Amino acid sequence: PQSKLPALGTTIFTQMSALAQQHQAINLSQGFPDFDGPDYLKARLAHHVAHGANQYAPMTGALPLRAAIADKTERLYGWRPDPDLEVTVTAGATEALFAAISALVRSGDEVICFDPSYDSYAPAVTLAGGVTRRIALTPPAFRVDWTAFGAQLNDRTRLVILNTPHNPSATVWQDEDFVQLWQAIAEREIYVLSDEVYEHICFAAGGHASVLTHPELRQRAIAVSSFGKTYHMTGWKVGYCVAPAALSAEVRKIHQYLTFSVNTPAQLALADMLRDEPGHWQQLPDFYRGRRDHLVQALAPSRLELLPCEGTYFLLADYSAISDMEDVAFCRWLTVNVGVAAIPLSVFCAEPFPHKLIRLCFAKQDVTLDAAAERLCQL
Ligand code: PMP
Ligand code: GLN
Repeated sequence: PQSKLPALGTTIFTQMSALAQQHQAINLSQGFPDFDGPDYLKARLAHHVAHGANQYAPMTGALPLRAAIADKTERLYGWRPDPDLEVTVTAGATEALFAAISALVRSGDEVICFDPSYDSYAPAVTLAGGVTRRIALTPPAFRVDWTAFGAQLNDRTRLVILNTPHNPSATVWQDEDFVQLWQAIAEREIYVLSDEVYEHICFAAGGHASVLTHPELRQRAIAVSSFGKTYHMTGWKVGYCVAPAALSAEVRKIHQYLTFSVNTPAQLALADMLRDEPGHWQQLPDFYRGRRDHLVQALAPSRLELLPCEGTYFLLADYSAISDMEDVAFCRWLTVNVGVAAIPLSVFCAEPFPHKLIRLCFAKQDVTLDAAAERLCQL
């Protein structure tokens, strides 16, 4: 058939994990922990399966989970969304992002994306008939140039997709960025999709800045998060979005025919976990700061130049002292010949990205990080 996405191949995450497996390389490419999530969460899942919670959940999400998300949002961001009208549980953040883009973007609409940005946004925009306008973020700071941003807006601009903490750059937005964003879009009918899946994995001094703390912006915003990151369980694929009732209603129109509803016992287990062990997500920044610092220290003798990491579980490394190869070729070579898999940065970009940067996932045990670092230090 004639492809609707002719330029698109298989995601880099699938490619690199497969290559890592084929060559038995240490896999620091696709972002997932090599340790398990909390025992309590697993016990609650078993409990709900054993006690008959095995039929469809409500389309919008199990009420205990929506209520727990509303409580958590209030504790973190000082405002409680209505669990019935403003919180929707989805099959991972991926589904929330796709549903939000499908719900908002019409044929011919323009969507602002940053370059680099997470790989799932642009294909969804294309399928909805929209056009992506990219704003370049330049290493090492990857900060938004708000003048360039303003210059991209026009009457066709419908949506801005942002992500903080940012995959892949590991930088975070500050409150000032949200102020600038509001100033730029206030007078136009532009919506905001804020991908905050790493909201609890933030090391910046001011902490995570969420779109949900901004009373005006959140009237126009869909905020997305994922329990895969929060509970070290990427395979559970439960996420959610928070948005005003009118926006949530549009997202739910898509969600009800994409998946209808999400795994029931997992939702109930997550609700128990949020209610009974709030300390878990509260200690996540310290936990991942420890993982990050471990990798940074282990790589200190290497010829990689490490970039600052303010959030996410990814560390960027400049390899220009080691090789002239372009980044995709370098990552393949690294996997096959050195036994360490990483993600090349250019795959997150629509425009040419002339930097020699790779992304290393540090959601790994000490032994994994040490073994990878030992190999990388020999380069
Ligand atoms: N957004 C970003 C920035 C991500 O890094 C990821 C996955 N790691 C997702 C969305 C998708 O999350 P999920 O696995 O919950 O679908
Ligand atoms: N978000 C994860 C990453 O950035 C990968 C998710 C996936 O494999 N689709 O590595």
